Amino acid sequence: MRYFKLSFLFVLVLLSCSKDKSNSKSDQNVDLEPDIIREPEFESLGNDAPYIYSQTYQGRNGYVTYYPGNIPIILSIPHGGDITPEEIPNRTYGTTVTDSNTIELGISISNSFFSQYDIRPYVVINNLKRTKLDANRDRVEAAQGNIYAERAFDEFHYYIGVARDEIIQNFNTGLLFDIHGHGANPDGYVDPRTWLGYLLSADELDNSDEYLDQILSINETSLYSLLYNSNESLSSVIRGQNSLGSIFERYGYEALPSDMSPSPEGMRYFSGGFNTYLYGADNNYSFNAIQLEFPYPGLRDTSSSRNAFSLAFVDIVQEYFLNYFNIDLFSL
Ligand SMILES: [Zn+2]
Repeated sequence: MRYFKLSFLFVLVLLSCSKDKSNSKSDQNVDLEPDIIREPEFESLGNDAPYIYSQTYQGRNGYVTYYPGNIPIILSIPHGGDITPEEIPNRTYGTTVTDSNTIELGISISNSFFSQYDIRPYVVINNLKRTKLDANRDRVEAAQGNIYAERAFDEFHYYIGVARDEIIQNFNTGLLFDIHGHGANPDGYVDPRTWLGYLLSADELDNSDEYLDQILSINETSLYSLLYNSNESLSSVIRGQNSLGSIFERYGYEALPSDMSPSPEGMRYFSGGFNTYLYGADNNYSFNAIQLEFPYPGLRDTSSSRNAFSLAFVDIVQEYFLNYFNIDLFSL
């Protein structure tokens, strides 16, 4: 919570600075005198609480959407947005590529949980286009000094934090899936595999199971909590028979790492970003995170692809939770 309080103070400081600046521009329609001390124009974070299952919360201007759930899973979707408000100028550095159809995919997954088992994950969506906010970077690179983008960033993480706290209270532990999509590799090759990011680099994964289990620390992974509370080795949890990637493969969706593809071996691969680190590697919380980088063809491209995958994903996640959390999602 301290992080958010400090962030909010930072917002206030920036608010006063940038308002003074914009006030001096003739094209800004600001009628306040520069020497008047202004109240912050943002509501306090959490002002739209309580958060109730089956309700929808939109944040300021609908830049961020929060759907409270009722199982120990959060889907965060940072790169699928398409809103481009004028009050937020385009970011001037960093990546700006949209992960196409990832919001649609996340909604489809939530709907499949509901249609099959009458349950829903928690879902937090950044609706801003990545040119305006990158919700999988630290706050400085994410919002690049714009107070409205910073507010959306703060809401995005506030909602995730609320969901995480509720999940820990109700289930003791849980898992965040940070949902992304990868395009063609720089050499034009379209990798059909879903890349699962646990914060282990491609070079680290290219080592033997013995190396992973004896040299790497579980502190370096986004499954710290799961591994700390388990007798399973790191290598078996990320690429053994019961690993998430291997379950993907059994359901007909290729994945890396898995028993079929234990390591990148020089291929392009993303090991997990800011959100995976923030929610998976913080030892103060009994929580875990995995970055999911989905391919486009046959998985994200059409509504029938998304629906078919979503139905499989519900069963994949159920199997994963039975394996590693001893939680039966379908009878909570
Ligand atoms: Zn992404």
